[in-house]
Amino acid sequence: MKNLVVLSGAGISAESGLKTFRDSNGLWENHKIEDVATPTGWNNNPELVLEFYNQRRKQASLAKPNMAHKALARLENKFRVTIVTQNVDDLHEKAGSSVVYHLHGELNKARSTLDPNLTYKINDSNISMGDLCEKGYQLRPDIVWFGEPVPMIEKVITYFRSADILIVIGTSLSVYPASSLIDHVNSFADCYYIDPNANENTLRDDFTIIFKQASVGTKELVDILLRS
Ligand code: NAD
Repeated sequence: MKNLVVLSGAGISAESGLKTFRDSNGLWENHKIEDVATPTGWNNNPELVLEFYNQRRKQASLAKPNMAHKALARLENKFRVTIVTQNVDDLHEKAGSSVVYHLHGELNKARSTLDPNLTYKINDSNISMGDLCEKGYQLRPDIVWFGEPVPMIEKVITYFRSADILIVIGTSLSVYPASSLIDHVNSFADCYYIDPNANENTLRDDFTIIFKQASVGTKELVDILLRS
C-alpha cells in the first residue's frame, strides 16, 4: 500500500461554514489574532479568550464535513492515509478519516495551564474561569497559539518523509512550522496542492496545482487516485 499524506488548513473547512482568517483580512471571526491566539492575549484577557474558543467549539460542533473531508476518508480503501491538519475542528474525524494529527490542537479538548500534557476531552462543553485541572490550575483550550512550540512536529515529519503521495489543501502555507513540512517530502513523491488562491512561488515546481475550491478539487483528485 502506498503512503498518502494530507496537509490540510482552514480552507478545507470553509465550505462547512468555518471561516479561515487570511480570507477575513487577518481577523479570525472578527478578532485580532494577537488577542485570541497568543499567550499574551491569554494573559491580558483570559475571559475573552475562553469565550472566543467556546464560540468556535459550538460552531464547529454544528458544522458538517463537506465533500473534501468525505473524499479524503474514501482514500483509505486504497492507501495508507495520514491526515495532518492545522485545523482545530474535528471535521476530518466526522467524515470518517481514521488517522488524523492536529498540529495546532483541538477545540474539543482542554489543557492545564500548569502542564501541557494534562489534557481533557470536553466535547462540546464550555471552559470557564475557575475550571481547574487535577492539580488545581486553570484550564485553557488545548490549542497551540502563535509563539508556542508545536509538540507534534517531529512525529509528523516522519510521515512526510515516507510519503509516496502528498495532497496539500486549503492552506496559505504561511504558518511555520506547518508550512515547512512539505520540504521533507521526497522528490519522487506525487505532490498536489488544492487551493483557489494557491501561491505557486511557495512550492517546489513539481507540484500539480489545482486552483479549485476544496470540495470540487479534492473530489476530482480522489476519484482519479482511486481509479489509477
Ligand atoms: P489560512 O487562513 O492562512 O489560509 C486559508 C487558505 O484557504 C487560503 O490559502 C485560501 O485561499 C484557502 N481557501 C479558502 N477557501 C477555500 C476553499 N473553499 N477551498 C480550498 N481552499 C480555500 O489558513 P491556514 O493556512 O490553515 O492557517 C491558519 C491557522 O488558523 C491554522 O493554524 C488554524 O489553526 C487556524 N484556523 C483554523 C480553523 C479551523 O479549524 N477550521 C479556522 C480558522 C483558522
